[in-house]
Formats: sequence, structure tokens, C-alpha cells
Amino acid sequence: MKRIRIPTLTVAEALGYCVESIRDANLVARLTAQSMSLNAAEEDYRLKGSNSQLYLIQETDSVGAQVTLEEMKSIYSNTFARKGSPARHMYDELRASAPGGICPLCGQRVVSTLDHHLAKSKHAVFSITPINLVPACKDCNTDSQARRPLHAGEQTLHPYFDSVDEEQWLVCQILAGAPPVVQFLAVPSAAWSDDKQSIVRRHFQVFKLGELYSTHAAVELINVYQDLVESSELQSPQEISLHLLSIAARRRRPLVNSWQAAMYQALADSEWFCTGGYLEISNSSLLQGLE
Ligand SMILES: [Zn+2]
Repeated sequence: MKRIRIPTLTVAEALGYCVESIRDANLVARLTAQSMSLNAAEEDYRLKGSNSQLYLIQETDSVGAQVTLEEMKSIYSNTFARKGSPARHMYDELRASAPGGICPLCGQRVVSTLDHHLAKSKHAVFSITPINLVPACKDCNTDSQARRPLHAGEQTLHPYFDSVDEEQWLVCQILAGAPPVVQFLAVPSAAWSDDKQSIVRRHFQVFKLGELYSTHAAVELINVYQDLVESSELQSPQEISLHLLSIAARRRRPLVNSWQAAMYQALADSEWFCTGGYLEISNSSLLQGLE
């Protein structure tokens, strides 16, 4: 999970652009009359978000009993996110805020949408609030529907507020086999609060990061295999281990919890792998049919 800069866009701006293209004068009047409550809710969100307390926010099926949840959902889809609408530049700006266009929730796939951190089906008041709209890939946007936190520790990470890259928490295990299997686990620092540890584990589970990273790692293992069997310098288990360790250190520099860093570290630490286990990669289904 990568932290990204919190948007400076506000719900007041979103409201201003949305009402420009709503033709129903009655809806515009009801919506505009709720601008104070939308602003107040945004302030509350900002405060709770920075204290990992968004789970305390009550679900709302209307905005001030004046604008319904269905109307807010429609305003999001047909006004805020609609291509060519006056508000669409805000949608585009939020979507483009993820560095490199990479989804901050999984750190792997490409951003293609905005995810409502507090679901728009449960929180009418945050349908068009920029700090509730996180750039995401399609899969993470779907997986996020599993979120319904009742306690602090059941929350997932919020890329605008939470930072978890000051310490290593992503750990990898190599299972001896033909081919070897690479598994990932979330093992947060014991120095973190119980809630923070639990949030990291929950995020890892909800967004199925273990499966995602294992799939990519199986592909990366093919590269490792080619490197090791073709190298004339890497002969002894110790040379192989040091080589893998140096790759782990390089991969960790830009991102402490990159799966690549965790994987190379685990490969370097595996005596089985370095003493010839790596040859078992030749049994990978990814290599079958190629020779
Ligand atoms: Zn994603």
C-alpha cells in the first residue's frame, strides 16, 4: 500500500461544478441548501481519517433528509464522473494523483477508477467528497466492497491518511518443491499499536495481496532461474545467497514493503534454495512447452 498526497479539492468545489449541469431545479435547490452539512461531514472525515477512526462515522441514507442516497449516487455517476461534465476534471485529477498510475491499494495494477473508501451505497453524504475518493484499479474497487468495519482494527488502509512504509511488514516464505512456491504474509511490527497491526493484516486480506504477489513472484522466479543457471560467477551457495541479498537491498530502497524485496530476501535466506533448490524452478508450468 502506497501513501499518496491528500487532495486539496473540496466537496464545496465538487458541489459547485455538479450543480452547473443538473437540470432539475428542485434538486439543485435541495442540494445547495445542504452545502453546510456536506462541508461539516467533510471536516469530520478529515479529522477521523487522520486518527484512523473512520469506522466511527455513521452510515447515512440521505444528506440532511433532503437529498436521498439514490440521488447522491446518481449525481456521482451522471454528473461528477460523467465524461464531458463540468465536474469531470475533478474526477480526472483525483484519478491521476496516484504516482505512476499505479493503484495505491495493491501497489501493482493500473488505476482505472475511483474507489469510495466509505461506500456510496452506505454513506450518501460522502458520494462526491474528494477525500473519500481514492484512485484504484478495478479489482481493488471490487474487493473493497468486503469492507464493513465495526472496529478500528477491521478497517483497511486509507492511502490519503495512513503510512505503513516506515517499517517492513511484508514477509515472504519459500516452500521447497518442484517448482518452489513463494508465499507472502503480513507480519506488522510489534512496536505498532494493536489496531495498526490489525489494519495492515486486514488490508492484506481484503485486497488479496498474498495471491496477487505470489502470482507475480512465480513469473519473477523464471528470471532468477535464468540468471543463476547462466551465470559463470555464481557457483557456491554463499555466492548465490549474497547475489540475491544484494538484489533485495536494491529493491527495498524505493519501497520498503515491495514484494520483490521480500522475495529476494527470502530466497537469499533459504539454504535449500541456494544449495540447488533453484534448479527446481525448471519444473514451473510457466516454462513448459517452451523447450
Ligand atoms: Zn489495486
